[in-house]
Amino acid sequence: MSILRSHFMNIRSEIERILPAQPCVLCGGMSRDGLWCNACDAAMPYLDAPHCPVCALPTPAGEVCGHCLAQPPAFSRTTAVFGYGFPLDKLIQGMKYGEQLALAHAFAKNLLQRIDKSNLPDYVIAMPLHPAKLRERGFNQSLLLAATVTRELKLELLPHVCRRVRDTPPQSALPWKERKKNVRGAFCCDMDLTGKRVALVDDVLTTGASMNALAEAVQERGAVEIDAWVIARTLPHTQNRG
Ligand SMILES: [Zn+2]
Ligand SMILES: [Zn+2]
Repeated sequence: MSILRSHFMNIRSEIERILPAQPCVLCGGMSRDGLWCNACDAAMPYLDAPHCPVCALPTPAGEVCGHCLAQPPAFSRTTAVFGYGFPLDKLIQGMKYGEQLALAHAFAKNLLQRIDKSNLPDYVIAMPLHPAKLRERGFNQSLLLAATVTRELKLELLPHVCRRVRDTPPQSALPWKERKKNVRGAFCCDMDLTGKRVALVDDVLTTGASMNALAEAVQERGAVEIDAWVIARTLPHTQNRG
């Protein structure tokens, strides 16, 4: 190692020593890499296997899945960072109910890395919460995610144009088959989106029923190309969420 290089290595380790480390949100060990440490990051269920470009379910060679071919949803593409599973599930729950807003920020950064920058939408819309639920929770985690992503990509966020007009039972409380019916017509969109490309942001895509219902609402207002941007996709062996 050259003297110069070893000099830089010394400076680097000195900087690492004085940079604030924080307890990893998963294991409690020290992390200088972000909210969760490198070791925990290696255990995170990143969605790297080939998957359907429409709904993000695994397919052998990344082709459109049979379900999307037979019954195409109103959205045309899904960008997902993770499969929904351990230890990510704990963090998603933390973001929703533990009000760990920093988690929303970290997830948005993950999502940013996966979004196709060559094909960006005109508008970004977050999955709306019903006002009653918003009062109860105090914030909309999907709006937090959407706000960070939108700011970084210099896109336009439409925070108020889509509304949840029916307070539906939580999707997680229902059998999969009933979820589509449960959210049908649950959303309305107050803005003309004729010819506009729109990205819809949510934390977890499970059956896709809520995402599809929201996509139908913006499609009715003329949106032409609808993207789903989500942090996690529930995969067939982890179908236990809403
Ligand atoms: Zn850790
Ligand atoms: Zn599919």
